[in-house]
Amino acid sequence: VIRTVDLVKFYGNVQVLNDIDFVIGKGERVVIMGSSGSGKSTFIRCLNGLEPIQSGNIVFDGQDIGGNTERQWRLVRRRIGMVFQNYALFPHMNALRNLTFAPVRERLMTPDAAEARALALLARVGLADKAKSYPAQLSGGQQQRVAIVRAMMMAPEVMLFDEPTSALDPETVGEVLAIIQDLTSEGLTSIIVTHEMGFARQCADRIVYMDRGRIVEEGHPEAFFTQPQTDRARRFISTHR
Ligand code: ATP
Ligand code: MG
Repeated sequence: VIRTVDLVKFYGNVQVLNDIDFVIGKGERVVIMGSSGSGKSTFIRCLNGLEPIQSGNIVFDGQDIGGNTERQWRLVRRRIGMVFQNYALFPHMNALRNLTFAPVRERLMTPDAAEARALALLARVGLADKAKSYPAQLSGGQQQRVAIVRAMMMAPEVMLFDEPTSALDPETVGEVLAIIQDLTSEGLTSIIVTHEMGFARQCADRIVYMDRGRIVEEGHPEAFFTQPQTDRARRFISTHR
C-alpha cells in the first residue's frame, strides 16, 4: 500500500532521514521502534505530508505522492489518518462534535451520516455514554480514544499512530492499546510508533527498528525481540523491558 524509496529528509542542514526504504502491505500492522531522536515521528509525518521531503519517493496505492502539493496532501490525509501523542481535541466541542465537525464542514458527510458513524464508533471504543462530554470531562485515555475515532471517521485505508499512549497514565495505557489492536485487526493497514514492548510483540506483524535516521533492522517480532541483529537494537530492547 505504501512504499518509500531512498527517502531523505533534512531539517536545515541536518539530515534526519537517510535513504529510508520501507514497504507496508495492505492490512499489515508494523510497529516502529527506536531511541529518542532516531527519526520515527519525522518518518511517519512524511508519509502524510506533514513534513516535506528533500528526495526519494513515497508511493501510495501506486501513485508517487512525494511531490504532492498541499492541496493534494489534504486529499491523501482523508485516506491516511494519524493519531498523535497529545490527542488535541477541540476543547470547546463535545466528543460527538469533535468527531462530526471536519467531515461535515468539508461536506464529505451529511450531519446525520456523520453523527451515526460517530456514535457507532464511540460505542465500539466503549464511549457510547460520553458523546455529549467535553474533553475536560474525559480521562486521558478516553480523550485518546475519541482522538482515534476522529482519525477514523473518514474510514482511512491507513492509520499512523505516533506514540499514542506515551502521554497516558500507566493504568490507562492498556485500554488504549486494546482499542488500537481491535480497530486495526480487520485489515486496516497501520504503522504504530510505540515503546510498548508487550504490545509490539503481541500485535505487530513486523518490527522496524530505526537508529539515527536509518532503518537498521526489521523483522518478525519474535525474531527481533529474541535475536536482535545489531548491538543498538539489543541495548534498546534490554533498556525498555
Ligand atoms: P522521540 O522518540 O523522542 O519522539 P523520534 O524518533 O520521533 O524521537 P524525531 O522527532 O523524528 O525523532 O526527530 C529526529 C531528529 O530530528 C532529532 O534529531 C530531532 O532533534 C530533529 N527534529 C525533529 N523535529 C525537528 C524540527 N521541527 N526542526 C529541527 N529538527 C527537528
Ligand atoms: Mg517521536
